[in-house]
Amino acid sequence: MSKKNTPGKIQEHLKDLNRWLPYKKGMCDTCEGLCCYMPVEVMTPDLIRLGILAEFHLELSEKEQIKDALRHPGVLRYTPSTSKFTLTQKPDGSCFFLDANKRCTQYETRPDTCRNHPKIGPRPGFCAYMKKE
Ligand code: SF4
Ligand code: SF4
Repeated sequence: MSKKNTPGKIQEHLKDLNRWLPYKKGMCDTCEGLCCYMPVEVMTPDLIRLGILAEFHLELSEKEQIKDALRHPGVLRYTPSTSKFTLTQKPDGSCFFLDANKRCTQYETRPDTCRNHPKIGPRPGFCAYMKKE
């Protein structure tokens, strides 16, 4: 991350949905990658694809799936009301799976939430685009 686009500025920008821009192809090339600084909610099949849970977990109880998922440092919590897990964010707000070069270390197996952004998200069709400084 550049010195100008501090974690504080990124979080401020993410929260202000009025500043989000309509998504256009190619925007990601010059973006600071703000979609990887939002809390990511995922389902059990996402965790299986990520290798955090295994296929056999589908045969186990929900309680056992949750217990095993939460053992992984990349999974922060489980929310019973939505039956979703939330991925861990690092102290700067970035996703547990984002590396120092701002690349997703799980790109091929990334969760549906990431694949569907920004079509589905806090402001569908809009992005918290922030130019790389
Ligand atoms: S916030 Fe939008 S423009 Fe930026 S990397 Fe994510 S999808 Fe691309
Ligand atoms: S899993 Fe990958 S694409 Fe999804 S938020 Fe994390 S780093 Fe970004």
